Amino acid sequence: MIIQLNQTVNEEIVATLLKRLAATPATVIRIGTHVAVPEVNQVTLMADEAAQVAEIIEKTPAAVLGSRLFQPEDTIIKLPHSTIGGKGGFTMMAGPCSVESEEHVRRMAKVVKEGGATLLRGGAYKPRTSPYSFQGLGEDGLKYLRAAADENGMDVITEVMDETHVDLIAKYTDVFQIGARNMQNFSLLKAVGKTKVPVALKRGLAGTIDDLLNASEYIAAGGNHQIMLLERGIRTFDNKYTRNTFDLAAVPVLQKLTHYPVIVDPSHAVGEWDLVTPMAHAGVASGASGMIVEIHDDPEHAFSDGPQALKPKTYLKMTKEVFELKELMNSWEA
Ligand code: PEP
Ligand code: MN
Repeated sequence: MIIQLNQTVNEEIVATLLKRLAATPATVIRIGTHVAVPEVNQVTLMADEAAQVAEIIEKTPAAVLGSRLFQPEDTIIKLPHSTIGGKGGFTMMAGPCSVESEEHVRRMAKVVKEGGATLLRGGAYKPRTSPYSFQGLGEDGLKYLRAAADENGMDVITEVMDETHVDLIAKYTDVFQIGARNMQNFSLLKAVGKTKVPVALKRGLAGTIDDLLNASEYIAAGGNHQIMLLERGIRTFDNKYTRNTFDLAAVPVLQKLTHYPVIVDPSHAVGEWDLVTPMAHAGVASGASGMIVEIHDDPEHAFSDGPQALKPKTYLKMTKEVFELKELMNSWEA
């Protein structure tokens, strides 16, 4: 059940109502004028309580806190150098797949910034298919990434793979990335849900849209409502020419269902650098709030995901086009 309160309420009466519901017993979560009581679907209100309530929605989706029914307004995530979500904006996030060295990430950060990105990406803890592949530089990588972002006035997004690393990574990052392989790592979701660090949750390789929304609910239920969802391609029957299938219809579908910003990742979706630009165009056209993309100046020798990395020149052309497209789209809305 969702209880939508009036814009101005008598706080004392509301507190009594919520206390009464909690004692039934039930979980009661209030964010501003929105109240969710997930396990309850009916309530009888006293006259003074009813006067505080704008609407009661009895039938609610499982991922209630993330739903538009609960919060019709877009979630907007504000970082020191970036705003993610809301109408009209488009947030670019870019960087190498892995932080490879202090010098390399600094060099890439300059290019990333030049392309109009406000977040620098780079993995210091890498989820690799093989245990013998490069696993990341760990805390040293976090230090290099943070320094490179600070030097260029950018925010940091980096992956957290393990709940035991949450506190350490929180010291260096502005956004936790939860990778596709960890979308349903519930203990990790609960752990980041207890922090105040925004979370970028990637759709799992075989994750349905409801799986993604329910996974995000684990983070929200813990008290962290600064969530963005990343479409990065899913496994379907054909992966001969693209690494994954880029499910761009998921963007408007998610935007209808949830208030969280939706970000596209054309790099992991297609897996080949020459397919990234056309799908980046398609990504912005789908209405996403932003994009995350991988770059490298020497892709043949990249420590991970070289084949999908854009070289600096291609990246700069792509971002210019993407921002132009976004501007054109904004002119349609005006
Ligand atoms: C990455 O961002 O480098 C990554 C490993 O992504 P995903 O979890 O989408 O595979
Ligand atoms: Mn990668």
